[in-house]
Amino acid sequence: MERWSGLTADEMQVLETTFWSSGGSRHGVAERLGFSKSKANGLIAGLVEQGLLAEAGLQRSSGGRRAENLQLNDALGVLIGIDIGATSLDIAVLGPDLRPLAQHTEATDVRQGPGVVLARVRVLMRELLARCGHGAKQVMGIGIGVPGPVNFQIGQLVNPPLMPAWDGFSIRDALREDYTAPVFVDNDVNLMALGELWRLKRSLQNFLVIKVGTGIGCGIVVHGEVYRGAAGSAGDVGHICVDQEGPRCHCGNVGCVEVMAAGPAITRMAVQAAEAGESEMLAERLRTQGRLDAVDVGHAGRAGDAAANGIIQRAGNLLGQMLASVVNFFNPSHVFIGGGITHIGPLFLAAVRQSVYQRSLALSTRHLEIQYTPLGPQAGLIGAGALAMQETLKVRGIAP
Ligand SMILES: [Zn+2]
Repeated sequence: MERWSGLTADEMQVLETTFWSSGGSRHGVAERLGFSKSKANGLIAGLVEQGLLAEAGLQRSSGGRRAENLQLNDALGVLIGIDIGATSLDIAVLGPDLRPLAQHTEATDVRQGPGVVLARVRVLMRELLARCGHGAKQVMGIGIGVPGPVNFQIGQLVNPPLMPAWDGFSIRDALREDYTAPVFVDNDVNLMALGELWRLKRSLQNFLVIKVGTGIGCGIVVHGEVYRGAAGSAGDVGHICVDQEGPRCHCGNVGCVEVMAAGPAITRMAVQAAEAGESEMLAERLRTQGRLDAVDVGHAGRAGDAAANGIIQRAGNLLGQMLASVVNFFNPSHVFIGGGITHIGPLFLAAVRQSVYQRSLALSTRHLEIQYTPLGPQAGLIGAGALAMQETLKVRGIAP
């Protein structure tokens, strides 16, 4: 582990650039850092010799010559990415290039509190490490995403509305008992944004990731970095009002987009439609399953159920209404929508697009693209791994 303490600032920059351009060439690294070819070659040769960088395979360069792919050396160790949602838990052991080596998903309920949930996380971490033949010592860094506002510096949730029992709880200390590796905690949507940024190799500089699940949140990428705001609550868009006459939200206000368009609202509307006799299909599902969720509404919608389509349209419209203001304010090139809502299908996306394009200023939507997150359900995990690697590189000893 200590093999990378005492590196120079230049060497750390090469490592970080290699991580962010995984599979890039020597030439690419030199170019990105503004180093001369000979300086970059010297640094890279040194890092390869120390076992920090590896040259993997060959890639065709534009001139027809072949160049080596640079990547962080697998021998550095592994990362653990943890993505805690309000109702689901994803955890993975990842290589330094964020390749999943072992992964597990299960249902959870964060309202059980940090003691119960993190005890389960610790068991799963041990099991997954064992499954890919690693121990606690090989873990370089741990990244964890949680569904609430996080003070990133101290790694704690601050007044999380969906998980009050976690307020001020030190997630870091709970995980540090088993590992010497540093633990980094961030909001789940920020990590989805970081995951997409890493996938894009920073080729997009200004975009948003909207997560629609039990709640609604927004990850913000500005100038190629995740923007967290002054106190870490940037992108808390779920409580923007979209209807002055709307229902009361758990935050105390009325008509928040979260209480009107997120997963529970869609379920509520579906149950109402089923019970009011507006949809035979949803009523049938409710009878056989005893419950309904967004996936059922999506199924019914695709099968031509008018009530289900009405619900999807309404939720998409309300989300679009909120998003239109955000787009006017921020002017992103892309908006990626992720979370459980993506299971509902393309009609939701179409409704969001229509609503945004109708309400936003022409200049902010001229080149705007709105789509589901390309990384899909992996976005949070990949983001947790990216956070772990990026921050671990930052805190490792840089020689003066
Ligand atoms: Zn609210």
